[in-house]
Amino acid sequence: MSFNIAIDGPAGAGKSTIARAAARSLGFLYVDTGAMYRAIALYLLRHHVQPDESEKIEELLKDMTIRINYVNGEQQIIMNNENVTGLLRAEEVGNMASRSSANPKVREKLLQLQRDLARDNDVIMDGRDIGTFVLPNADVKVYLTASVEERAKRRYVELKEKGIETDMETIEKDIRDRDYQDMNRTIAPLKQAEDAILIDSSKMTIKEVMDRIVDAFQESLKLKG
Ligand code: C5P
Repeated sequence: MSFNIAIDGPAGAGKSTIARAAARSLGFLYVDTGAMYRAIALYLLRHHVQPDESEKIEELLKDMTIRINYVNGEQQIIMNNENVTGLLRAEEVGNMASRSSANPKVREKLLQLQRDLARDNDVIMDGRDIGTFVLPNADVKVYLTASVEERAKRRYVELKEKGIETDMETIEKDIRDRDYQDMNRTIAPLKQAEDAILIDSSKMTIKEVMDRIVDAFQESLKLKG
C-alpha cells in the first residue's frame, strides 16, 4: 500500500519548496496540484474565457486532456500532448488559476488524476484541499502557513532575484486577495483538516520545517507497522 503525505496551506507558505525537498529525501513522488490548476488556467486564457463563464469552461474542458510525467524526479504537466510545465508560473496564470479553480467542473477534472497518483505511488501532494478532500485518509497531513507579511517578504525576494520590479504593498494585496478567494469559495475551500499538524513557518528555517514533517512521517510509519 502506498504512503501519502498531504500538505495544504495558503499561497507563498513554502509548500512546494518543502514538499519537493521532503519528497527527495524520502524517495517519494512530489505531486504539485497547483500546477494542474495552472495548466487548466493557461488553457482557458488561451481560449480567452473569463473565469465566470461556466458553460464555456465546461465545453472547453471536454477537449482538454491533462497528464503527468516525471523527468529526473520533476513533475511535468502535459496538456493536450504539449509539455506546458515551463509556462505555468506566470502571475497571470496564477491569478486565473485562483479564480477558475472555484469551478466544480475544473476540480472534478483533476480529482481522479490526483487520487490515482496517490493510490499507485508514495506521494507528497501539496495544494489547498488535499487533506480535507482529495486524500482524506492520508497517513500524514500538514497545514503549512506563515504570516501575510512573511509570505510577502519571501515573494518579494523571489521576484527581485528574477529581475522583476514590484513593491511590497502590491504583493501583500495579491496574497490577501488569493487567500480570500481560496478560503471563501463554496467548493473545497482552503482550511486546516481536523487531523492535520499545523506548522507556522514564519520564524522557521526550511530545515526545521522539513524535520517536523520527517518526524511526523516516522511516527506514522511506526503506527502503520
Ligand atoms: O499552489 P499554486 O499557487 O500553484 O495554486 C494556484 C491556484 O490553484 C491556487 O490559488 C488555488 O486557487 C488553486 N488550487 C486549488 N486546489 C489545489 C491546488 C491549487 O484550488 N489543490
